[in-house]
Amino acid sequence: MSQTRRQAIQLLTVVAATQGAPVDLYTLKNASGAEAAVSTYGATLVSLKVADRAGKMQDVVLGFDSGQGYHGDHPYFGATVGRYGNRIAKGRFTLNGIEYKLATNNGPNALHGGLKGFSRAVWEAQPIGKNGLKLTYVSKDGEEGYPGTLTTTVEYRLTDANELRISYLASTDKDTVLNLTNHSYFNLAGEGSGDILSHEVQLYCDRFTPVDSILIPTGELKAVAGTPFDFRSPHKIGERIDADHEQIKFGGGYDHNFVINGQAGTLRPAARVKEPTSGRILEVLTTEPGVQFYTGNFLDGSVKGKGGKAYQRRYGFCLETQHFPDSPNRPQFPSTTLKAGQKYQSTTVYKFSRA
Ligand code: BGC
Repeated sequence: MSQTRRQAIQLLTVVAATQGAPVDLYTLKNASGAEAAVSTYGATLVSLKVADRAGKMQDVVLGFDSGQGYHGDHPYFGATVGRYGNRIAKGRFTLNGIEYKLATNNGPNALHGGLKGFSRAVWEAQPIGKNGLKLTYVSKDGEEGYPGTLTTTVEYRLTDANELRISYLASTDKDTVLNLTNHSYFNLAGEGSGDILSHEVQLYCDRFTPVDSILIPTGELKAVAGTPFDFRSPHKIGERIDADHEQIKFGGGYDHNFVINGQAGTLRPAARVKEPTSGRILEVLTTEPGVQFYTGNFLDGSVKGKGGKAYQRRYGFCLETQHFPDSPNRPQFPSTTLKAGQKYQSTTVYKFSRA
């Protein structure tokens, strides 16, 4: 390993005992001193330190100080989620005339890949390039009910332009469905520093996918105009989060998939978030058709995160780039079928700046 790479990537073994396979934590550093730590457990983004307007580095993602926290009960902090990010209604879908039954873990529905999913698997890691890490996981045919042996790689790169670039590649030996995402909870004022209601959000999305009371899409693509879902110009998260609107009530706030403007498959802006006190700005670009804007409505203080801090309701927000929830049962949505021999490719960029 070159001297530069040795400086850029530090390998620490954090958890070995409880789960059998050892788990490693890699730290990526860029020229301006930003740092991203990624664990092989769940290919999880464990911490992300970026500068505020005064140059002060702070960790802007929720999570835990030790590997043990990630083994416990938590709502997917920083995890790579698969095989299917978000919900599949009743944990069932039909592909090529065969009905598949998935593990259900969210009422009657399958959420985020099932009981274990990709977020609790131990991935194999390999440093790449100057500031990158490639993680690989082979999911067996029938795992969590999904067909096909699926090989997935996730590449994290921290560029000198303060972008965390996440690229996903996958292939299967049998037709299957796939929808990968990253489930980081951001607080641009620093994790654990309070709620995210004063963050200003802009979503480059003219439409969203309304849901029923258990957060399954109705199938409609609804215009955001005239609703609390209109983030076409910047709005504070808190401004309309408790509005008297059925969709807001179903989500307990924002927990909805937005349809990103422009051509899916091309990298284009999905969101821009500014935190006025720190001056930190996050821009999200993706090749995916949608983004789940989730405002941590189900956090309730029961999880103690970094530094023992209780993560209360709305202490973090997620921008999970993805295909739409329940797509395998919604032929009108962009397809999530991955055919044997085809290549799955997806890229998302989280870019940080300050003002
Ligand atoms: C879902 C929420 C869920 C959260 C944590 C989000 O992607 O949309 O409903 O509570 O993940 O599992």
